[in-house]
Formats: sequence, structure tokens, C-alpha cells
Amino acid sequence: MLKGKTAVVTGSTSGIGLAIARALAAQGANTVINGFGEKDAIEKERAGIEREFSVKATYSAADMTRPAEIADMIKSAEKTFGAVDILVNNAGIQHVAPIEEFPIEKWDQIIAINLSAAFHAIRAAIPGMKARKWGRIVSTASAHSLVASPFKSAYVTAKHGLAGLTKTVALEVATFGVTANCISPGYVWTPLVEKQIPDQMKTHNMTAEQVKRDILLAAQPTKQFVTVDQVASLAVYLCSDAASEITGANLSIDGGWTAA
Ligand code: NAD
Repeated sequence: MLKGKTAVVTGSTSGIGLAIARALAAQGANTVINGFGEKDAIEKERAGIEREFSVKATYSAADMTRPAEIADMIKSAEKTFGAVDILVNNAGIQHVAPIEEFPIEKWDQIIAINLSAAFHAIRAAIPGMKARKWGRIVSTASAHSLVASPFKSAYVTAKHGLAGLTKTVALEVATFGVTANCISPGYVWTPLVEKQIPDQMKTHNMTAEQVKRDILLAAQPTKQFVTVDQVASLAVYLCSDAASEITGANLSIDGGWTAA
């Protein structure tokens, strides 16, 4: 379905981003992966994508806090593959603290990675998409782009901003065959979430199942985690021709969280 297209997926060395990068590659897209991590592990993922899906895959070490590196990532993808057709803004971090104690540098870092990086990448990728009259911008927002939780001021602000940025871009490029949408997951089962369970079991004197249901999934009515593959399937759908009339949308995949 995406043969001959090129996708850049930020924050794709693990979790949701990696699943999206692999799913787009499985559809035939050449893929640029990005993010931090151990050199050998990243190379294994990159080579695995090429081998499994018979596409080209490259790695960009661009730091999403650095606008020049972000612009360079897009430029060098265009140089290598001739185009950036799909941009997935996925890199993100979290920090949890009461507002009066929220570290200023953490605020700046979260706004930079979770929000401003998307602006810089979109800004660099849009001219090529407009010129070719085809493009897909998919941003991983969060249920926190629609509702808040205490102690997550920077994350909630950045994710609400990402939804607003997406709507604005969608309007600007609506007649150019380019769509821009957000995917807003609830709790997704990633290694990051899995690693929290032993500590929470100790803190709350609960079983693993109780921690999952009563702590982590307290806000998620289905009491099930979203899977990375479910998020990736939605991203693939948004990149299909069937989704050409979906733009400026913020699609929830949150087990009913934001319906409450
Ligand atoms: P993750 O920690 O597994 O992945 C984050 C990725 O971002 C990694 O590849 C990491 O290396 C990269 N990254 C971090 N800082 C970076 C920087 N400065 N420059 C470049 N790359 C950087 O987390 P995840 O759970 O897969 O989250 C991915 C996205 O999904 C984030 O935007 C997150 O906010 C969002 N999200 C996650 C959940 C969840 O429950 N896991 C729910 C809703 C939304």
C-alpha cells in the first residue's frame, strides 16, 4: 500500500514509535527511524526492518530538542529517498510533579520534545509534501490532549498544543492532498509501563493484576491496555487513501477513557 513512499518516525527506537515504523515498513514504505538508545540495539532494529520488509531503512540520531538537527533529519531523508511522504511525530517524554515544584528544565524539555519538535519537523517536511500533492502527518498525542491529570502540567500542555498545531496545519494544507491528524492513546502496554509494576506492587501491597486494574488502568473503562500494534494499525490507516478525507482529527484509542 505504501510502496515507494518514505516515512520518518521520530522516537522510533522503542515502544509505540518502533511499532509504527515497522507497520509502515510492512506496507512497503522506506523508513527513517530516530531516537535514543544503545547503538547495537538500534542497528539491529534498522537492519531487521530492511530484512523483514524488503525496504530501505536509515537511522537519524537527531535530538528532538534541537531545531537544526530536526530540519537536517528531514533534509537528509529527502536527499536519501527523494521525498518525505509520511511524517510521524511520536517522540515524547513525561515528568510528574506538582506545579510549584515542577523543574523548569523539565518543563522546557517536555515542551521541546513533545510539542516544538513536531512544529520543526512539519515546517521542514511540508514544502516537499505540498509540491508532490501528497502527504501524511500523524502525531502521537495522548488522552492528555483532551483531558488533564494532576501533576502532569507540561505533558498535558504539550499534548493539547500538539492537537491545536495539527488542526492548524490540516487547514493550511487541506487542498494539497496532505492530511494532518493526531492519534490519542490511553495507557499503552510498553516496556516503560511494564517496568513500573514491581515498584507499584511493593508500594501498594498489591498483586500485579491489581496494580494493572486499580492503579494503572483506573481511568480506562475497558480495564485493558491499548497495544502498540493497535496504535500502529491506526497510523497505517491514516496513511492510506481510504483516510484521505480524515484531516485535523484527534482520534482516541483509549478504551473509553475520554468518554467518561
Ligand atoms: P518510549 O519511551 O518507549 O519511546 C519514546 C521514544 O522517544 C524513544 O524512541 C526515545 O528514544 C525517543 N526520544 C526521547 N527523547 C528524545 C529526543 N530528545 N530526541 C529524539 N528522540 C527522543 O515511549 P512510548 O510509550 O512509546 O511513547 C511514544 C509516544 O506516545 C510519546 O509521545 C508518548 O507521550 C505517547 N503516549 C504514550 C502512552 C503510553 O501509555 N505509553 C500513552 C499516550 C501517549
